[in-house]
Amino acid sequence: MGKPTGFMDYKREVSASEAPLERIKHFREFHEHLSREKQQLQGARCMECGVPFCQSGMMLCGMASGCPLHNLIPEWNDLVYNGNWEQAYHRLKKTSSFPEFTSRVCPALCEAACTCGLNGDPVATKENEYAIIEYAYEQGFAVANPPKVRTGKKVAVIGSGPSGLAAADQLNQRGHSVTVFERSDRVGGLLMYGIPNMKLEKHIIDRKVKIMEEEGIVFQTGVDVGRDVKASKLLHDFDRVILACGASNPRDINAPGRDAKGIYFAVDFLTANTKSLLDSDFADKKYVDTKGKAVVIIGGGDTGNDCVGTAIRHGAKSVTQIEMMPKAPDKRAENNPWPEWPKVCKTDYGQEEAIAVYGHDPRIYESTVKEFVKDKNGNLRAVKIVKLSWVKDPESGRMNMQEVPGSEQILDADIVLIAAGFLGSQSYVTDAFGVERNERTNVKTAPGRYRTSVENVFVTGDMHRGQSLVVWAVREGREAAREVDESLMGYSNLVVQ
Ligand SMILES: Cc1cc2nc3c(=O)[nH]c(=O)nc-3n(C[C@H](O)[C@H](O)[C@H](O)COP(=O)(O)OP(=O)(O)OC[C@H]3O[C@@H](n4cnc5c(N)ncnc54)[C@H](O)[C@@H]3O)c2cc1C
Ligand code: SF4
Repeated sequence: MGKPTGFMDYKREVSASEAPLERIKHFREFHEHLSREKQQLQGARCMECGVPFCQSGMMLCGMASGCPLHNLIPEWNDLVYNGNWEQAYHRLKKTSSFPEFTSRVCPALCEAACTCGLNGDPVATKENEYAIIEYAYEQGFAVANPPKVRTGKKVAVIGSGPSGLAAADQLNQRGHSVTVFERSDRVGGLLMYGIPNMKLEKHIIDRKVKIMEEEGIVFQTGVDVGRDVKASKLLHDFDRVILACGASNPRDINAPGRDAKGIYFAVDFLTANTKSLLDSDFADKKYVDTKGKAVVIIGGGDTGNDCVGTAIRHGAKSVTQIEMMPKAPDKRAENNPWPEWPKVCKTDYGQEEAIAVYGHDPRIYESTVKEFVKDKNGNLRAVKIVKLSWVKDPESGRMNMQEVPGSEQILDADIVLIAAGFLGSQSYVTDAFGVERNERTNVKTAPGRYRTSVENVFVTGDMHRGQSLVVWAVREGREAAREVDESLMGYSNLVVQ
């Protein structure tokens, strides 16, 4: 696979990013990708290591190591090295429904587990994936391929995020007639309204959805199942229903002053921003404008980082990110060895931009909000935060967080964005179908299965496993499709991995 000595012959090289002070002037993707020839040398760095952890997708210490789709990485790295791009595309498509999405937004679990990364730099697998799929579009390999035979069976998919799309794609390829219902005005779920345009330009989603339509999938947008359409009607009209509605219940911050004007949930903020960008290039003003505002983001994770990048692009006066956890180490700790997912401090694109604009990292660690301070008109003016320390409970041995007395601090704030995670699926959909939920409010199934407590109703993606990653949503969609296919036909020849 690749070239046995390639990892010694060639250095890892990845796309260059536009400088932070330049890219904040727009909402487009900002990577300058390698030439085809240079990318081939990156394929050569895959070294026939014998045990390709990169494609294992196994759970180690509660976290995934390697690609959850079990992409055939060493095989397509070799095809990239040899310039056999068309076959690389077909190899990639065997296990991956949407490389055009994952090669942009995946945190590359494959690279964290790459054997090359044990003592040096991992193979640039994510960018090899990007090169394969974009070349396939350029050369016309990535085109509609409708099924030749229809089974006469009908499947409804509720929700058009990556999981619903993956299930729909697989079932349609198998010959079932699939209709995807989406309550939003555009298809894509959090790919469309969640992940900002600078990480994933939205025409990339439209390009793939158009192919899926040409292949026979029907998309009905603006249909809120459980409100606009009754569950009983779908169960009557379709042979099977797949729930793929995501886990969009945001975790709130219940501190005094929460009713102040100027506090938004992160996904509402990001959704309005992308919609206004796509509808009118911001001319309709239907977004939260952070220009000249002091913005405080509660939550130091990836969603918080997307809010940092978005707030900066609109010209925020200051951006601060509050994180409850301590700062992670810069390098792997001894108890977090390869090929486990590295629990290290990541400075993402938004934080890089904040450093370039304001001269410092926007994150304040081990802190939480104690109060939202408002003026006499109810407008947010500041947030009071307090430091936290981790203290061991002598009886249970568990670590608990405690406020550090006297550590309160007041931060100016005109706008607060709550990016504190998600609490599972919305109950009006699960109630409409009567499916059982677990203690985390995810829809309940047997472990590793997708059939719910209600006959003919299946579940997939974040609605099943809780807020996760695009790559997991795609894997779940493919597995759920196989289970649905088996239930319809008595067997399935769908490839999951
Ligand atoms: C801000 C943000 C940034 C993220 N960035 C990344 C990233 O960079 N990389 C990564 O791997 N993951 C990222 N994630 C996580 C990833 O987006 C999700 O794990 C993934 O989208 C889940 O897919 P899904 O199909 O299960 O659900 P979703 O993408 O949430 O899609 C669910 C869809 O169902 C629709 N729906 C819900 N109820 C109904 C109903 N009753 N009727 C009709 N339609 C309905 C919703 O409108 C939505 O379109 C991010 C998440 C957020 C919030
Ligand atoms: S989907 Fe993610 S983990 Fe899998 S090969 Fe692509 S970048 Fe790596």
